[in-house]
Amino acid sequence: MVALRLQPSLDYGVIDIHIHVAPWEMMHAPILAQMQKNRQHFEFLTSIARDAGRLIGIMDEAGIARAGIINYVAPEIMGFTFEANRFSADYVKQHRDRLFAHGSIDPIHSKDPEGELSLLLDEWGIAAIKIHPPHQGIAPNAYLEGNTILPTVYEGCSRRGVPVVLHTGTTIFKGARIKYGDPILIDDVACDFPDLKIVLAHAGRPLWTETARFLVKRHPHVYMDLSGIPPQRIPRWFPDLDRLADKVLWGTDWPGPGVPDMGTNLRAFLKQDLDQTSLRRMLRDNALKLFYP
Ligand SMILES: [Zn+2]
Repeated sequence: MVALRLQPSLDYGVIDIHIHVAPWEMMHAPILAQMQKNRQHFEFLTSIARDAGRLIGIMDEAGIARAGIINYVAPEIMGFTFEANRFSADYVKQHRDRLFAHGSIDPIHSKDPEGELSLLLDEWGIAAIKIHPPHQGIAPNAYLEGNTILPTVYEGCSRRGVPVVLHTGTTIFKGARIKYGDPILIDDVACDFPDLKIVLAHAGRPLWTETARFLVKRHPHVYMDLSGIPPQRIPRWFPDLDRLADKVLWGTDWPGPGVPDMGTNLRAFLKQDLDQTSLRRMLRDNALKLFYP
């Protein structure tokens, strides 16, 4: 792979596994109206969504070598349909050296999860599957109550060695079911699908960081990303981050509400007193292992 060295203080390329570039117009009118209140910012976001080259320029400035673009299917709460996956796949297509895509399957309504999974992973080159329990309105372990779509996704990803990224923690969007963001529900998934690579997005913040920390230590294939966590909070929530370094991935959740840009986030993280070897694992090596096997 190309060793991009964009952050002057580091001699390797940093990977931000969790950013959002979406077909914003697909969002439900009230959410869209909320976003459009800041017109300048919304135009900025849509210009990025139209042109991946623009994002690459922003990554260059921020010192980010590679980024994972997240989209997920949540027709009821957010408005995103399966078409959001096509957007992601097309978006990264010309920039595989810099971008990879997380896609998604609707865990409640999908009529053909096996076929959709094959389309995303085997044909469109999607690198990971995102499940957003609070926005999709389902518990990650709902298969214990009869859901048959989730196990199809978990088994299909496990078989292919593709990670499943699950939202954990709270979310500000109206209608979201926060209880499904409790990472303890993912303990079942890790037990029942022991080879599945799982990423706890946002490490359970702010309510369940201790649970997330416990799960990454307990299960060999469970990881967590630091996205959406203000770097200055990390020492309080994860005082032993160095010791978890093999299971932690860097991500920002940019441009989510209240999230500073990728570069500002990264610089704040680099101010933490962390061991250089641990840092390299979190900023790059673990992501390469999971998303570029
Ligand atoms: Zn996110």
